Amino acid sequence: MPLFDFRCRACGQEFESLVRSAGYGDPPTSCPSCQAVDLERLLSSFAVSSADKTRAAAAAKNKKAAAIGRADTAAMDREIDHHRHEDH
Ligand SMILES: [Zn+2]
Repeated sequence: MPLFDFRCRACGQEFESLVRSAGYGDPPTSCPSCQAVDLERLLSSFAVSSADKTRAAAAAKNKKAAAIGRADTAAMDREIDHHRHEDH
């Protein structure tokens, strides 16, 4: 039986619980702290990789935004030069 991490949505308690392999429905357990059954199953490896992807995507987005910012500035400089030449 796989051991899964759960987090109680009621009190935030995190705990491990054995889950029947077919049990992809409701978590078959309750919070050991407050006995709430409103539990979130934590898929630790997936959560980590998802967080990494989010960080990577955010970094890429920032990098792209910075590149666009530089390109806009360069285009603006060229535009200013162009008008400056037209004035003469
Ligand atoms: Zn709880």
